[in-house]
Amino acid sequence: RQEREAGERGLPARTTDGHTVEIAANINSADQVAMAVAQGAEGVGLMRTEFLFLERGATPDEEEQYAAYRAMAQALDGRPLIVRALDIGGDKQVAHLNLPKEDNPFLGVRGARLLLRRLDLLEPQMRALYRAARDGGALSVMFPMITSVEEIQALTALCERIRGELNAPKVPLGIMVEVPAAAVQADVLARHVDFFSIGTNDLTQYTLAIDRQHPDLAAEADSLHPAVLRLIRQTVEGASRHGRWVGVCGGIAGDPFGAALLTGLGVQELSMTPRDIPAVKARLRHSAQADLTALALRALSCETAADVRALDGAAGGQS
Ligand code: PEP
Ligand code: MG
Repeated sequence: RQEREAGERGLPARTTDGHTVEIAANINSADQVAMAVAQGAEGVGLMRTEFLFLERGATPDEEEQYAAYRAMAQALDGRPLIVRALDIGGDKQVAHLNLPKEDNPFLGVRGARLLLRRLDLLEPQMRALYRAARDGGALSVMFPMITSVEEIQALTALCERIRGELNAPKVPLGIMVEVPAAAVQADVLARHVDFFSIGTNDLTQYTLAIDRQHPDLAAEADSLHPAVLRLIRQTVEGASRHGRWVGVCGGIAGDPFGAALLTGLGVQELSMTPRDIPAVKARLRHSAQADLTALALRALSCETAADVRALDGAAGGQS
């Protein structure tokens, strides 16, 4: 099995009946690109920029960020790159930012909420990104923890202003769908953005009301819970009404059975830790999309996450 995965990792994730899913990597720096491509990555679906803040112990200025984004785009040599705007708060605390302590950080000022309150963080980041876009490459930007249309409107207005100031090209702007409200309202939000990337780690946490880091609840925090799958389905349907594409960049995208189910639900891009790519590609290449669609339909009608997991091997091109 490992030999087959090794041989196929450079091939596209095309099902036996000709449906292709884009496979991307979750990596944060240019020096990881060669390794990710060697594993079979076709681009970067999630660059978590908070790592720039965490690793340096200080806030990187516009020049430092520009250098990092430009280096990533150059290393990718024309392959797609999705950079996520700073996602701080919740599980991602940055000591040197001295943010106020909150009773419920996961329900507090995190992600887009923080960006909109801290333009001193958002503006240099967007300037650095648009400057990198001016240098070429296939750059997209997405915003974390989006809950409402107002947030999208405020962020896109700011992006357009900065783009104008820098005389930079348009960059596709997307959002993370990781709050149930965004999934439920996907048909509305899709009018205002170019793409969705579902963050199943947080979407699972907020749907099941289980802290994603809780040591006693890890087994119950299953992204294949039917309630989460229904929200993913709703997101895909809402996006397709407006011709938008949907990816998944949470952990479940790197699980072969999860990837098969997501593909059956109509997800078009899967972004994961590079080492997960070969097994996911092999699984999809030995499946038929018609079977995955049927598998997804069965999963949506399951009563429990355990019932969904029991479908693995029962259908969907087990390899
Ligand atoms: C997610 O929430 O699924 C996600 C990809 O983002 P992060 O894990 O960085 O919160
Ligand atoms: Mg998240």
